[in-house]
Amino acid sequence: MGTPTLIGIPFDGHSSYLRGAAEAPPKIRQAMACDASNHWTEPGVNLSEPGIFEDAGDLVFSSEPAAFAVIEAALRDLLDQGKRPVSLGGDHSITFPIMKAMARSYPELTIFHFDAHPDLYDEFEGNRFSHACPFARIMEAGLAKRLVQVGIRTAAGHQREQAKRFGVEMIEMRDLPAYAKLKSSGSLYISFDIDVLDPAFAPGISHREPGGMSVREAIAHLHAIEGTIVAADLVEYNPVQDVAGMTATVTAKVLKELLGKMISGR
Ligand code: MN
Ligand code: MN
Repeated sequence: MGTPTLIGIPFDGHSSYLRGAAEAPPKIRQAMACDASNHWTEPGVNLSEPGIFEDAGDLVFSSEPAAFAVIEAALRDLLDQGKRPVSLGGDHSITFPIMKAMARSYPELTIFHFDAHPDLYDEFEGNRFSHACPFARIMEAGLAKRLVQVGIRTAAGHQREQAKRFGVEMIEMRDLPAYAKLKSSGSLYISFDIDVLDPAFAPGISHREPGGMSVREAIAHLHAIEGTIVAADLVEYNPVQDVAGMTATVTAKVLKELLGKMISGR
């Protein structure tokens, strides 16, 4: 398996409500390196071992309209090098160009998508590339063979119809825990929107939706995943909304456990 490789994607140009997620990548790295904790994951992977994961730095965008092409090209490049990209957003719109690159290398991908929101709108406020739409674009383009959503608690009627139309397996927050459903054969992509967490645990997000996962529930579901994780993203941390860096710490914790999972393969 390729080395997990961080790539910062400081883009929030398709956020429908608040900007700020573009400021997240360096803050997540800082929180992960913070001396308040150590470099070990809970199941015992030492992330300070040299070469155990890599960091490709942050993308630079010359303009917002050019961003998706830059993201797709950068991801292709990492995949061509045999890496397992771990993208740090940014808003959730970035998952569409990421998945365009992924599908070229992994045509039979399963996605486990953690989110308060299904992000399945055909269009949102006139924008088909809004962060409320990426999974509609991904499914209609056939970029994944299976989409499992976990933690959903905002499904509007239109989004339920879209889920049915695309065969999405939507596991709603009120039906958790759902450890046994997080099994996949073949290549697996994890898309983790920080707002799946309850805003009491993660206030630094653009769309605070009460009734979400505790950090412990999120980690337990991550640990329960069975499958070969070939790439992942962590999106929607919004430092502008954060309180004393709490959400940076939580995002870094989720990132650590995710990296450990990718490295240990279990
Ligand atoms: Mn989302
Ligand atoms: Mn969300």
